[in-house]
Amino acid sequence: MNNTSYWICDKCGKKIESAKDGWVEWLIPIKNNVPETHNKGIRIVHATNCIYTDRECDTEDAIPGDDSLENFCGPDGLMDLLQFISDDMFENKEEVLEIIKRIHIPGYEYAKNYIGEAISEGIYEPNTKESYCSQADIEKIIKFFNKH
Ligand SMILES: [Zn+2]
Repeated sequence: MNNTSYWICDKCGKKIESAKDGWVEWLIPIKNNVPETHNKGIRIVHATNCIYTDRECDTEDAIPGDDSLENFCGPDGLMDLLQFISDDMFENKEEVLEIIKRIHIPGYEYAKNYIGEAISEGIYEPNTKESYCSQADIEKIIKFFNKH
């Protein structure tokens, strides 16, 4: 399967046409003017229109952390994301793992929303954790849902 080449924006739900139009951002909670150890809310969005607003950051008592989606696409970007896990930088490491899969596992971005349905339709019978599907399963899921 080809590498993932477009993404669905976590803010507006529309297509991010290419890596250079995308942004990866997260929230760094601040308490008494000091950044907390665990970040949260990591997501993939359109680079300019959909990033966390000042108001959203204020509401969460947080500052944004970010980098371009393009920078996270190569091996160095993968290494950075792996380091987020290694350093236990996020409240919920599954959030970061999901971003890694969405950027680095070919086709996962297109198949991920159909996993539940694919299981109930008997298209995908997970013998792993269900959102950790093989390339063959991702292909099956995409094919099935393109036909229907
Ligand atoms: Zn957007």
